[in-house]
Amino acid sequence: MSSKIPVVEKILSANDRLALENRARFDAAGVFAINVMASPGAGKTSLIEQTIRALQGKLRIGMINGDIATSFDADRAAAAGAAAVQINTGGDCHLDAVMLQSALGQLDLSSLDLVIIENVGNLICPAEFKLGAHKNVLVASIPEGDDKPYKYPGMYRGVHAVVINKIDLLPYVPFRMDFFKEGIEALNPGVVQFELSCRTGEGLQAWFNWLVSEARKAALR
Ligand code: MG
Ligand code: ZN
Repeated sequence: MSSKIPVVEKILSANDRLALENRARFDAAGVFAINVMASPGAGKTSLIEQTIRALQGKLRIGMINGDIATSFDADRAAAAGAAAVQINTGGDCHLDAVMLQSALGQLDLSSLDLVIIENVGNLICPAEFKLGAHKNVLVASIPEGDDKPYKYPGMYRGVHAVVINKIDLLPYVPFRMDFFKEGIEALNPGVVQFELSCRTGEGLQAWFNWLVSEARKAALR
């Protein structure tokens, strides 16, 4: 790595160490954890809300919401039936492993199967800060445009799954799905993808099935 950025490297490695500790806590409890990232308005909170409702009775879900100032999204998750913890980042544009560590102290992991971490809405930096989740998930949406993988390659490279939300709007906005997917494929070949609409419910089942199957694997670790 470049010798010009030793301070940044030091911060990242301290963060990575804590992320490993967070991961160990998830693994010890047999919990599957995902880090959900997106630009503001892509529909993270709606997806999480619907996921909590749909998986009730199948998975015990905890939700950690990182927001710059409000607790509105955590309130929505709690209303949907999850154990919800709010992290106010105090203006920071991403979550880091320290913030997650303190949030984990407020959740009883032994009583959970899945922890959903809703990161701050931002496509610039969140993927650079490991939290300790097993999978990074990026929620994209049709109205944002089909050029996002080309504009934010770091985000698209750093995730294990891409959710393409709001497909019900495809007839109404210019969006070339082939162009979008070529961009993803070039950056992150073979990454898991879901095309869905939180509004109509189309495609949600495949997403739910993936979470359930990954959570089963985590429980066996
Ligand atoms: Mg939200
Ligand atoms: Zn940031």
